[in-house]
Amino acid sequence: MASPGIVRLMSDLWKDSLDGIHPTVDIETGEVTYPEAEARLDERDGLAFEVLETLTDQDRLHREFQEKQYICPQCEAKGMQYTSACPSCTSPETVRTERYRHAECGHEGIQEQFLDDEDGAVCPGCEMDLESLERLELDTIHFCENCDAISETVDHRLRCRECHLVIHPMRATERILYQYYLTDDGADWIGEQLTARESLVEMLENRTLRTETDTTVTDESGEQVPVHVYATDDLLDEDIVAAVHEQPDESDVRNLLSIAQDADAHAILVTTSGNIVGKDVDRFITDDRLTVLQLANGGTLQREYEIIADPTKRNSFVGRIANIFRSQTV
Ligand SMILES: [Zn+2]
Ligand SMILES: [Zn+2]
Ligand SMILES: [Zn+2]
Repeated sequence: MASPGIVRLMSDLWKDSLDGIHPTVDIETGEVTYPEAEARLDERDGLAFEVLETLTDQDRLHREFQEKQYICPQCEAKGMQYTSACPSCTSPETVRTERYRHAECGHEGIQEQFLDDEDGAVCPGCEMDLESLERLELDTIHFCENCDAISETVDHRLRCRECHLVIHPMRATERILYQYYLTDDGADWIGEQLTARESLVEMLENRTLRTETDTTVTDESGEQVPVHVYATDDLLDEDIVAAVHEQPDESDVRNLLSIAQDADAHAILVTTSGNIVGKDVDRFITDDRLTVLQLANGGTLQREYEIIADPTKRNSFVGRIANIFRSQTV
């Protein structure tokens, strides 16, 4: 469920070393990235945006609107720009300018044409002395450099920076960019995950194991795989790979077992909710290379857990309490 990368990200948000996660838009390409999230997540966590949205769905983060981005329907470039366009020829080459009009005679022109040599104003149409420009009507017009058309209004368009397509905004794909912040639920959740991890490390160190938190182990293919905790028993020459999850599911159990097997280590799985999710998860849990522990009140770890079929249906679990006669605080 929660990878070491996600725990890293959430824990920095929780410890206030990170006040939120903000999108960055590349001015050249329009590409959106989340550098604060990417710096903390691992490559195997997938796209930062998808991780952030998942955490938002889980109410661990909440999001705030930052801006809306438009995507080109022709070349899929991001960040189309607003442009006004000539209503006659559709060119974006329009210039906004002011037009003066003498109401009495109807003469129209730009500011310079109404000014005389002595800082006064004269109408070039009827030659009336106007004293100042304030007696003239003023409006804004748009002059098209492409077709010379003068228009009172312009069309509102979006222009692609890549392929230069100019289109009506309705034809572009919209995308909203959000900033992400920790929620109270998220703070409780990460607090609990870190408590469980610290309890686990403490327990291992009390047994004189050397521990490393948020580290990596090398898997069978030589790749570095992030793990929550890695511990070495120098005396007995034995290693332990441990993971902490709120509600570990079958894939969490399988991943942990596979990493442990590659590292030739024993696996410890800590469930902070006391549950493990999955109908067929039994067959993995009974593996004797795996120990399942639950985070109990007061931060202690116990050998007790429940298997539930579906975490969204709390009342219909088919679970059992395993190892109940061996239940103990370790
Ligand atoms: Zn006039
Ligand atoms: Zn034009
Ligand atoms: Zn385009």
